[in-house]
Amino acid sequence: MSAKNHKKDDILYKEELKRKITKLKKERNAAIIVHNYQRDEIQEIADFSGDSLALARAAIDTKAEILVFCGVHFMAESASILNPDKKVLLPVKEAGCPLADMITVPSLRQKKKEFPRAAVVCYVNSSAEIKAESDISCTSSNAIEVVKSIKNKRIIFVPDKNLGRYVQSQVPEKDIILWEGYCPTHLRLTEEDVVKAKKNFPGSEFIAHPECRPEVLKLADHICSTAGMFKYARASKAKEFIIGTEGGMLYKLKKENPDKKFCLPTPRLVCANMKLTTLGWVVHSLESLVYEVKVSPQIRERARQTLERMLRVTEKPALKR
Ligand code: SF4
Repeated sequence: MSAKNHKKDDILYKEELKRKITKLKKERNAAIIVHNYQRDEIQEIADFSGDSLALARAAIDTKAEILVFCGVHFMAESASILNPDKKVLLPVKEAGCPLADMITVPSLRQKKKEFPRAAVVCYVNSSAEIKAESDISCTSSNAIEVVKSIKNKRIIFVPDKNLGRYVQSQVPEKDIILWEGYCPTHLRLTEEDVVKAKKNFPGSEFIAHPECRPEVLKLADHICSTAGMFKYARASKAKEFIIGTEGGMLYKLKKENPDKKFCLPTPRLVCANMKLTTLGWVVHSLESLVYEVKVSPQIRERARQTLERMLRVTEKPALKR
């Protein structure tokens, strides 16, 4: 078969899968919730797409009884914690997050013993068990706001050291104890990649996610979360942007800004876990109602409080702790 025919077949196959998804969604009263790092074809079928914070809110607001969470495990877990009455499905059960796996409950308890007067802030990219052990959660959109809202001077920030270090630079009045965790996807972006991309795209702006290395962040024209990137790209007068985060972001950035150009500084900015979800797996998930993500009631209640404290911070001026 020629390459042209193969491509045509692939498009027809995907269209067929999308039709199936639309039909199944109606039958099941389901919503498809999609992270910004997912494949383009998954973002195309989203009822809601966004960053972790937006998705947590969308999961609460939707009237759907079933949430098909196209992302990684900790995201589906957070949706389940906040929505115990809804069935939360993760289409690919192996879709985990290596960053979330870089911390365990015993090691966090040990750190809490070492710094008994410190508050624990956990990045939302962590397991339900870690959330249950923490005082408050945060996303990359609201980490600075969350840390500022805490009365304690000393804060144990887990598990992403790069985000923690960036927050420390923005909130110098706090004493942040960093955890040795990192996102392997963002870590693959180097200073050399950015310097080279800037040479290839003179006049462009480099926008970086705070999970990047500090030497990469130093080269950034703007540092922000994925939600912040959409806002910044819309408002900026620049016509070309180098995007320092996972490649899935290009889909919506290009769609929302057809007159602007976006590129990645390296093709290595791909999260293999995020790309596990395909249209076929979403069909399978809706047909067989798999794989349900549930959290035990004891863990759930404590993790829920941690997440809800975060949600309150972004709604109210200050959090009383
Ligand atoms: S991009 Fe990084 S933090 Fe996000 S799911 Fe992949 S490994 Fe985890």
